[in-house]
Amino acid sequence: MSSNAELFDEARSVIPGGVDSPVRAYGSVGGVPRFIQRAAGPWLWDAEGTRYVDLVCTWGPALLGHAHPEVVSAVQDAASRGLSFGAPTATETGLAEEVNRRVPLAEKVRFVSTGTEATMTAIRLARGATGRDVIVKFAGNYHGHSDALLAEAGSGVATAGLPGSAGVPAATTASTLVLPYNDEAALEAAFAARGEEIAGVIVEASAANMGVVPPRPGFNAAIRRITAEHGALMILDEVLTGFRCGPSGFWGFQQQRGESYEPDLFTFGKVVGGGMPLAALGGRAEVMDLLAPTGPVYQAGTLSGNPLATIAGLRTLQLAGDDVYQRLDDRSEQWRQVLAEQLERAGVPFVINNASNLFSVFLGSAPARDGVADYAQAKAQNAEAYTAFFHAMLDAGVNLPPSCFEAWFLSDAHDEEALDVFSTALPGACRAAAKVIG
Ligand SMILES: *Cc1c(COP(=O)(O)O)cnc(C)c1O
Repeated sequence: MSSNAELFDEARSVIPGGVDSPVRAYGSVGGVPRFIQRAAGPWLWDAEGTRYVDLVCTWGPALLGHAHPEVVSAVQDAASRGLSFGAPTATETGLAEEVNRRVPLAEKVRFVSTGTEATMTAIRLARGATGRDVIVKFAGNYHGHSDALLAEAGSGVATAGLPGSAGVPAATTASTLVLPYNDEAALEAAFAARGEEIAGVIVEASAANMGVVPPRPGFNAAIRRITAEHGALMILDEVLTGFRCGPSGFWGFQQQRGESYEPDLFTFGKVVGGGMPLAALGGRAEVMDLLAPTGPVYQAGTLSGNPLATIAGLRTLQLAGDDVYQRLDDRSEQWRQVLAEQLERAGVPFVINNASNLFSVFLGSAPARDGVADYAQAKAQNAEAYTAFFHAMLDAGVNLPPSCFEAWFLSDAHDEEALDVFSTALPGACRAAAKVIG
């Protein structure tokens, strides 16, 4: 049996950094990434046979827990009938109907393979619909790795402390206007200055790639109001939050709380594919019909709407009824409470932010003093304290995101045994964080 360290060495000789997505390499927390052998429910087992409670949940998709038997069996059944056809299937229509049932504003839906493609296509559509070039995004929001959206992005870009990426033409990001998150006045000012050039505003439904930073009350609705006044589109990126923060995503969660607004386009990913490579964009029919073959905005994909991916997504959503979301909400509150108690006991200053059942912690006195409502405040957290906390938790059998700029994910399978492991690990990890903060 190879150790994680041996596997990492071997991987690094043939794969850049040994990983296919940067944050997995543990660059910011150091140490050796766990090579995963299998997963079930709330648990992961690494190559050495060590078991962990998983709070990454494949960065969100594992809403029902890993390897849910009914989802796995639906995929196995589909696999026996063919892996890919490059032709339409009834399952795609079924999943589009399920998305539309949950988010009626997604009148039409197009499936792609990654969230990156979904947001890339959404901005192409916004540009095609308006004949304008400029896209507004917010600092610390992450929308995948397409050129135009890699400016002051969250997630792995934030973890690596990069302003953007090499290899992106200056001309491309020149059409991307980056504004501070949760700052309505900055958005008003940008539109007052350049409103006629702006094709659309893209925003995470709740920011969750700089840690979880929910929108201030009224912020998302203000984006809708301002874009509408200037003939620009609003793209609500629900790749992470969609079908996780509630049956109808974070948009549905806000609607329920009385904050209603109507984006032109939504992007979905993660949960919508139930752990398989699948993402989607949806929106008003007249905008969506601008996509080829009905319209002039080109978009395509050999594996788009793949039969295994769409059945995994469809079965996941069919199993994710209101009861699942209610349990997730209750569980999230319980786990956050346990976390807060132990951090307090150890004397660690902290903020726990949440957006419905999604949450994350910011350690250090700056967040504890000022809260965390934007990227500048998220960056003021004590990353070294998180590193110490992360490794102590990992050593005690809890797999947290290997970066302080990521959300924590629970699933419907996180039971009392999982909570026990989490609670038992916390005191030592909180003391480790306290030691760093001093
Ligand atoms: C994960 C994510 C993306 C990118 O999705 P990929 O499938 O990784 O390309 C886009 N937007 C948000 C909000 C995300 O969290």
